[in-house]
Amino acid sequence: MTPKRKPVVGGNWKMHLTLAEAQELGSEVRNRLNSYAAVQTLVFPPFPFLHAVGQRLQDSAIGLGAQDLHVEKKGAFTGAVSAEMLVSVGCKWVLVGHSERRHVFGDGDDLVANKLRVALAAGLKPVLCIGERLQERQAGDTFAVNRRQLRAALHGLSASDVQDLVVAYEPVWAIGTGLVATPEQAQEVHADVRSAIGELLGIAFATQVRIQYGGSVKPETAAGLFGKADVDGLLVGGASLKAEEFAAIVRARNA
Ligand code: PEP
Repeated sequence: MTPKRKPVVGGNWKMHLTLAEAQELGSEVRNRLNSYAAVQTLVFPPFPFLHAVGQRLQDSAIGLGAQDLHVEKKGAFTGAVSAEMLVSVGCKWVLVGHSERRHVFGDGDDLVANKLRVALAAGLKPVLCIGERLQERQAGDTFAVNRRQLRAALHGLSASDVQDLVVAYEPVWAIGTGLVATPEQAQEVHADVRSAIGELLGIAFATQVRIQYGGSVKPETAAGLFGKADVDGLLVGGASLKAEEFAAIVRARNA
């Protein structure tokens, strides 16, 4: 029997937009996708806009998430935002280990693992991002790098600890570059990621965990990616900033 995994598509707004633009985009995403029950839709606005965008999404099916979190609860950590703060402004989701956090801000495997635990403890649903760099792919290390990142993040956790986990496979060479992985490239990594999750957390959990692909997804490439057996959704950066494009990507699920 084919497992039922509801597709999940997230829009990562990164460090873009003003408050008014973010509110407008939130409303537009809601108008276009609230009734589209075939896909679970999430948005990840910048920290200062979370509460206001959350108000635009109130009582809708669109989930609100943050792009990162700090591991401490409170204290002298200038510029940082805690999991409790995110919960208090209405977040239900959080990205953990996005490649820009790993490679621009230097979040290592240990910090990512810690952030995952802190998110879970606060009741936030994590989207754990993993992915290899171009030189790692060229060296034939794609599977090994993704397995290492998974192992580091999930070490010591059980399937019941991470019930709502979503994993996003985002090859670093495809993020923001216009170079999208082919559906076949995505599928072969997703299948290996699922098998690695099975080894770490059990086959039953691996069969139902959702694995998103992310990296330069556009409306034209979304349907091909959705067509692969182990691609359960997409994480979208640039194309999520235009409601029309983002909605076309979400709706490509049934195309
Ligand atoms: C991302 O930020 O997760 C992402 C996939 O970005 P883009 O779609 O712009 O490559």
